[in-house]
Amino acid sequence: MSKNKIIIGNWKMNPSTQKEAEKLFVDITKSIFGVQKTEIVICPPFLYLEKLRSASRRTKKISLGAQNVFYEEAGPYTGEISASMLEDLGIKYVIVGHSKRRELGETGLDINKKIKASLSAGLVPILCVGETVRDESHSYFNLVKTQLEECLDGVKKDLISKIIIAYEPIWAISSTPNHKDATPADCEEMSLFIKKILVDKFGVKIKIPRIIYGGDVNEKNVQDFLKDGGVEGVLVGRVSLDAVKFMEIIKICEALSQ
Ligand code: PEP
Repeated sequence: MSKNKIIIGNWKMNPSTQKEAEKLFVDITKSIFGVQKTEIVICPPFLYLEKLRSASRRTKKISLGAQNVFYEEAGPYTGEISASMLEDLGIKYVIVGHSKRRELGETGLDINKKIKASLSAGLVPILCVGETVRDESHSYFNLVKTQLEECLDGVKKDLISKIIIAYEPIWAISSTPNHKDATPADCEEMSLFIKKILVDKFGVKIKIPRIIYGGDVNEKNVQDFLKDGGVEGVLVGRVSLDAVKFMEIIKICEALSQ
């Protein structure tokens, strides 16, 4: 398991222009000179990846990720982008199974194929799992278990540690209406549960992948999640569009690694 913590920014469908995207990226890179121990990944919209790749090669401190991928290698798949195309462009990570894509109809089987295609192309899939609500009968554990089992079905054991699993309870995501704050204890409990599911499915000898948390992470709560949430990083949505706050998150993470 990597010792470095990872901070991933998911810009979603923002910002509106390439110029703004470049500015945001440059603003983030300007303030990361002292950062040594924290892995930083930015996942902008597909269209901005190529431009930002040149900027990221200059700093070498930020890796790029895509927000989606298609599972076929090549062919008549109008509008889709393959894992090998991303790899060819120098992209290292790809988010799969984000709740917003599941909402649009992406199934466990689709996500499973995307994970396999990404691993074959040498990309690191960031698999998002998480429940919509927390009910008193605790059925959210079963839901996360089913998501993991479907999405990781048939993935070779020795590749499991190459995946990053992001626990993202939908009820805590900033864009969910009336979202609520998750606590580090909620996160730690689910992180332990995810590890148990992986061991049950793949055996005690597997190398546990990195588990991270996402759900309205900001500069005020990140320290608690990283210290007490049982996770090795965070996936940041809304706040990753604010260079100053995103930088604060990175600095807090870096200080915890000293
Ligand atoms: C997300 O949608 O993946 C996310 C974590 O968003 P936010 O940080 O805005 O809650």
